[in-house]
Amino acid sequence: MADDMAKTADDDGTDSDSRRLLRRLRDTLAGPGEGQERLDRITHLIADSMGCEVCSIYLFRDEDTLELCATEGLKAESVHMTRLRLGEGLVGRVARSGTAINTANAPAEKGFRYMPETGEEIYSAFLGVPVQRLGEMLGVLVVQSKAARQYSDDEVYALEVVAMVLAEMAELGAFAGEGEALAAPHQHSVLFRGGTGQEGTAEGRVWLHEPRVVVTNPVADDPQAECERLREGVAKLRLSVDTLLTQADSADGEQHQVLEAYRMFANSRGWLNRMEEDILRGLSAEAAVEKEQSATRARLAQVPDPYLRERLHDLDDLSNRLLRILTGQGAETGAAMPDDPVLVARNIGPGELLEYGRKLKGVVLEEGAVGSHAAIVARALAIPLVIHAERITTEALNGDHILVDGDQGLVHLRPDETVAAAFRDKIAMQAKAMERYAGLRMLPAVAKCGTTVGLHMNAGLMADLPSLEGSGAEGVGLFRTELQFLIRNKVPKRGELAALYSRVLDAAKGRRVAFRTLDIGSDKVLPFMKRLDEPNPAMGWRAIRVGLEKPGVLRMQLQALLRAADGRPLTVMFPFIAQFEEFLEAREHLLEEIDREGQLGHTLPEKIEIGAMLETPSLAYAPKAFFELADFISIGGNDLKQFFFAADRENERVRRRYDTLDVSFLSFLQHIVQRCEDSNTALSFCGEDAGRPVEALCFAAIGLRSLSMRPASIGPVKSLIRRVDLKEARAVIEEAAASGAQSVRPAVLDWLSRQGDGS
Ligand code: PEP
Ligand code: MG
Repeated sequence: MADDMAKTADDDGTDSDSRRLLRRLRDTLAGPGEGQERLDRITHLIADSMGCEVCSIYLFRDEDTLELCATEGLKAESVHMTRLRLGEGLVGRVARSGTAINTANAPAEKGFRYMPETGEEIYSAFLGVPVQRLGEMLGVLVVQSKAARQYSDDEVYALEVVAMVLAEMAELGAFAGEGEALAAPHQHSVLFRGGTGQEGTAEGRVWLHEPRVVVTNPVADDPQAECERLREGVAKLRLSVDTLLTQADSADGEQHQVLEAYRMFANSRGWLNRMEEDILRGLSAEAAVEKEQSATRARLAQVPDPYLRERLHDLDDLSNRLLRILTGQGAETGAAMPDDPVLVARNIGPGELLEYGRKLKGVVLEEGAVGSHAAIVARALAIPLVIHAERITTEALNGDHILVDGDQGLVHLRPDETVAAAFRDKIAMQAKAMERYAGLRMLPAVAKCGTTVGLHMNAGLMADLPSLEGSGAEGVGLFRTELQFLIRNKVPKRGELAALYSRVLDAAKGRRVAFRTLDIGSDKVLPFMKRLDEPNPAMGWRAIRVGLEKPGVLRMQLQALLRAADGRPLTVMFPFIAQFEEFLEAREHLLEEIDREGQLGHTLPEKIEIGAMLETPSLAYAPKAFFELADFISIGGNDLKQFFFAADRENERVRRRYDTLDVSFLSFLQHIVQRCEDSNTALSFCGEDAGRPVEALCFAAIGLRSLSMRPASIGPVKSLIRRVDLKEARAVIEEAAASGAQSVRPAVLDWLSRQGDGS
């Protein structure tokens, strides 16, 4: 290879060798032929242009196997025969580390693996570079020479640029052909195993929240024109960041900081210089941006420091914006949203998800968490959600057929017809059950023994309220007010909140709505609130603890509630009360606000109920006076269970470890029921478990007479309660508990199955 092969274009515009190579490469790729033919021509062309005896392309056959797919110089029989594990040999090392290996004496290199079938023993010099696109590793490109020499920096650079163009072309399916390693991307079916964010199933077509930009022209002929395009693009980018900065609320320090960092990157001379250099070596403006972006992602994968990672994320995001400007492929790609869209995204904010609203059939995220804001909104909208579907944004294309199984946390992308048929059967069965439940809508949840259980729904958004009619709920047993705060980027004003709460009460048409005051902290961090670095946020400064120590927002919220009621009955409950004093103090704030509103001449609610959420075991042992003073108590089972068993509700490893029907937990709940009965205090249960039919049945059997759950659970819970005798269920539970069983579940399920009903 000529040592000056990769030198850049001179100012007078003479062609550099790397540009000539890239152009030959592009023409080869544009020519006719199947994938294999193309690969063969490419290896020949690279070896020829670079003056090396060997050029080979290894592509991933599966996640950790590389296959020799084409070669010039090694034995032809070894093509599609020679395979390496990820990390094995020098090729495997390049693939694993994502960085080039350049050595004059390959056999002496650590990890060298001799592959006799290839005949490579006579080649001393080795240069391998990763074939990757935006951090996605596709394979390794290798050149080898007999002479023991180190390849120059320019040669390494040239081969990297070629590898990048290969990656772009692979993305476009240029090497599709026979053999698994040559399969066209985005065509075969893929199964993703993620986690459940919201139960339910959906079939539809992929709608990418941020469609990836496709670069169709990685090689460009006119470097001056490309540099000009790049500079114009960067100028537009800077302008858009400046506009964002002027629009941003100056009081919002964090948002400002982020945007300032964006501005710094957008104005970075080094960034622009590196991209211009890539263009001079033959890349198009878009490909130059992507090359820089790939390098950023490679660095991201190796940086442990969270602050630096954030900054690299900013740069990654900025590159995306620049690519969209250059290609004109914005979020507005012109693609029409399918009729049955399933949203696929790396992550999404609650506000953005709400904007899509109920038209989405399902949501699949690469990141996300059970308690994330997006998950909360998906739950509120009853849209099946799968989280942690790793790499789905790289695999999925707009319009791909997709099946979402929120119950199992599975996603089938481009499924086979047999999988789709089985899936449709499951959906049909669910639909049948829904029909059955709809028939019960107007009927009360009366058990065979004559006991009635009040079934209410949990809500948090205006979007939830229509479910009041559809589900047959008696009222809203838990209105999570923090959702309104979570989806905004500023503290909402009192007037705004009052108007919203008033609309909630209008929609409830006289049914009771239990408004829970702000429950922030722990997993629910407001976008405009400074994140506290607490070692254990679930047990930290959250909910009523924040409200009592910084009462400004709590008082404003209480005022908004009183005004929204405007003479109608009002129900308020305070979250996470751990001791009597906290309840007294919170209650006092409300009483003072009532007083103040009265003095201001506002109409006061005709009746006010003030309750507490029992979410920590301590409150179950509060003085009798607490139970007598509280108008009602609502068990927040999600938190109560995590503190009872000391098992983090957000931690996948432990959150399912302890059964809700564990004898100790049920007997603890019975203790709470007893205390409320003793003081004649109304009691309800509003954690997720209330929506699980067997759990709901057991709660009712031990004396809970009011349950609040997701609207979709009301039908199944009611259906089961109406079919059983709660006295009998209680006897089964007591007998199981006395027998020394850990959980009463097996006994209850057995009893249900003996009644011909195991649902
Ligand atoms: C609970 O803890 O059970 C509860 C209803 O509150 P949240 O899930 O909002 O913490
Ligand atoms: Mg809670």
